[in-house]
Amino acid sequence: MIGQDILDRFAGLLGPKGVTTDPDDIAPWTTDWRGRFHGATPAILSPASTQEVAAAMALAAELGVALVPQGGNTSMVGGATPPADGSALILSLRRMNRIRSLSPDDNLAVCEAGVILSTLHDAAQDAGRRFPLSLGAKGSATIGGLVSTNAGGTQVLRHGTMRALVEGIEVVLPDGRIFDGLDALKKDNRGYDIKQLLIGAEGTLGIVTAAALRLVPAIAARAVGWIGVATPQDALALLRLVERSLGDSVEGFEVIADDGLGHVLSHIPGIRSPIETRTPWHVLIEVDHADISEPGPAARLEGALAQAFEAGVAIDATIAANEAQADAFWRIRESLSESERAQGPALQFDISVPIARMPAFMVDGAAAAESAFPGTTASSFGHLGDGNVHFHVRAPKGTSDGPAWIAAQGQAISAFVHDAVVAAGGSISAEHGIGQMKRAELARLSSPARLAAMRAIKTAFDPDNRLNPGKLLPLPGEGR
Ligand code: FAD
Repeated sequence: MIGQDILDRFAGLLGPKGVTTDPDDIAPWTTDWRGRFHGATPAILSPASTQEVAAAMALAAELGVALVPQGGNTSMVGGATPPADGSALILSLRRMNRIRSLSPDDNLAVCEAGVILSTLHDAAQDAGRRFPLSLGAKGSATIGGLVSTNAGGTQVLRHGTMRALVEGIEVVLPDGRIFDGLDALKKDNRGYDIKQLLIGAEGTLGIVTAAALRLVPAIAARAVGWIGVATPQDALALLRLVERSLGDSVEGFEVIADDGLGHVLSHIPGIRSPIETRTPWHVLIEVDHADISEPGPAARLEGALAQAFEAGVAIDATIAANEAQADAFWRIRESLSESERAQGPALQFDISVPIARMPAFMVDGAAAAESAFPGTTASSFGHLGDGNVHFHVRAPKGTSDGPAWIAAQGQAISAFVHDAVVAAGGSISAEHGIGQMKRAELARLSSPARLAAMRAIKTAFDPDNRLNPGKLLPLPGEGR
């Protein structure tokens, strides 16, 4: 157990601001965003610099203390929630929130791990640039968390996930040594790519203390459209049609089931449906130009949508008349998770399958889940163009005890959905990672070769399993 003598050693190193022991201050950080995982810890460590992180890691190594790295605690898979037995300390990066540099000439921002995503968006905008990755949790999620989960979001179609946007990384290794890889070189063939190993490692290999991030030119003009369609297959046909007309200026393409829109309208104040017709599916599309040449994005999107009506893949459509309306359309998309949480208990699956197979998966997979688990309703929303949707199975109407429903049905429903995903050639985690929620399923469904390689990497970096124990890697006995 972690006693007072150990906490005193950390306090001596990090000062009074660097160690939080008040249970009321700790409480919000020991439960995950969805409220599914409840942990405990005697203290949160909050170093203010890379050197302090390194010192804390070295001391943790000396004392044999396990650490759970944490940023904004918006993980969807219980990734930043400490173990329930209080056997680990949270290592929060939130005090390390400086943008060390932002160079429009280099198209680069060097951010400390605790910088909040929306803060980076604002800073880049002020410099005539932008950081092209956004997600619903942008007001809380931190750069360290985004790097460590290889986050995706709504612009992956054009700009890729964090793997494509991180040019350099600074990391403190489990023994306290600092790996300084912030040098953002276009070409660097010095063997193993440590940066890519750490991206998506979910805090199991090292602590990300800073990252050099790629910026792109600010948007000069954009058009945001909302299109009602009959099926996900029509949505995919629409995507391919607009890509033919508009090329890579299509920056966002999100598909939303009508019941998802219904939840937002019911639970989020001040939201209206962009179109009059209630169609079974909806598409939110954004077309961006970095210049102001004519025809602008709205005129070009209008032309593409005319073709979509002619081809019979669109039922109704509108293009936002101004920026406020464009933001209102996006607010619907960004409120989906929150409104569904308000709607009632559900199991969420963040899955990918090959893009061409996704429309059928969205329809047939939902029907199969509903028929296998009577009373449930299944639907999906998300990044169809990336072959990634959030596929949700909701508890039967009237279920008042969500945790009891999940305890009774969760494992069977998860296995059912994940088996279908694997049969379709997909991944059980497209964006959110594995955390503790999907650890056993990763073990069940991964090949022995994948598991052996993952274990070997973990052992090489963290032989004593002191970094984020119980996350990502199968526990003894799990897996093959
Ligand atoms: P945390 O939740 O604190 O941590 C996440 C993981 O990273 C944990 O394993 C933690 O141990 C580790 N970690 C955190 N900081 C560090 C660090 N400095 N060094 C090493 N390890 C660290 N994700 C998507 O990809 N796409 C989406 O569209 C998307 N939408 C979301 C919408 C909502 C409303 C919410 C709540 C979440 C969404 N997410 C999405 C989840 C997304 O993974 C997180 O928002 C984000 O990446 C995590 O950032 P965070 O700072 O909150 O990290």
